[in-house]
Amino acid sequence: ENSYEKGLEKTRSTFGSRLNEFLANFRSVDEDFFEELEETLIKSDVGFEMAVSISDQLRDEVKLKNAKNKQAVSNVIIEKLVQIYDQQGEHEDNSIHFASQGPTVILFVGVNGVGKTTTIGKMAAKYKQQGKRVLLAAADTFRAGATKQLQVWGERSGVEVITGPDGSDPASVVFDAVNKAKQDNYDVLFVDTAGRLQNKVNLMNELEKMKRIIEREIIGAPQEVLLVLDSTTGQNALTQAKMFKDSTDVTGIVLTKLDGTARGGIVLAIRNELHLPVKFVGLGEKVTDLQEFNASEYVYGLFK
Ligand code: GDP
Repeated sequence: ENSYEKGLEKTRSTFGSRLNEFLANFRSVDEDFFEELEETLIKSDVGFEMAVSISDQLRDEVKLKNAKNKQAVSNVIIEKLVQIYDQQGEHEDNSIHFASQGPTVILFVGVNGVGKTTTIGKMAAKYKQQGKRVLLAAADTFRAGATKQLQVWGERSGVEVITGPDGSDPASVVFDAVNKAKQDNYDVLFVDTAGRLQNKVNLMNELEKMKRIIEREIIGAPQEVLLVLDSTTGQNALTQAKMFKDSTDVTGIVLTKLDGTARGGIVLAIRNELHLPVKFVGLGEKVTDLQEFNASEYVYGLFK
């Protein structure tokens, strides 16, 4: 059992099993079939537009492949979901882009509680294990305890964390971290940022300032700006995403807590509405519960 299968239990028990159940009651491919399919998809949180588009595309595909029995129809549906996901993205490449020379800097953005710090902790362990020299920057100086939390993750995996006093300018933490990364030849620097929503304008200005410092100190950096979204918040996640995307150059999504939601269809909605690649998914609270996103593993996982 891979961690996709375990982490997707809840989604599978609704999205997957809804589709499975739908297919189990298969009678014939007629207009009722497509209407019921559309309804099943909407209930699974893939979003209204997406649900309509998927069933339209499936209508054509079922005709084209002349699928008439249950097995043939389910194969078409699974293949189509994978294909639809793959087509949505403008950036097909899911992997992290590493600098060919000098430190790679990855900025993590997202609102409080979505799982930024946890994701950075997991990533730090992952890349450290691959033999990379990893440095962390605790640039959320606003939320009490955020720095400490990142330090705990750092200690766990033996990764150094650059910090500043609570309430200090996060840009100065970033400046220190970037310079340490350069001087001491680190391979990657992960920057944790604040996610307070009370003052969006301030937050966005702060993120921009950090980004400018990184750009100024290291040519080509930040290589990635990863927006972390909590999949359990459904449509809220999409609203947050639009806000961040409008003010920062987000390069990819980390979708956390997929293990805690029955609404895994959100992956398709995010892809469809934001045209950003989901690069990683969080499938639990443990350090190993982070996976590079893979559309076909994901879709096949739903139908297990
Ligand atoms: P931040 O405020 O964005 O830095 O969020 P945190 O990293 O502090 O995470 C908030 C909560 O979500 C913590 O209790 C984490 O353990 C939990 N969390 C983060 N990622 C995942 C995940 O993939 N699955 C589950 N089940 N919990 C997660």
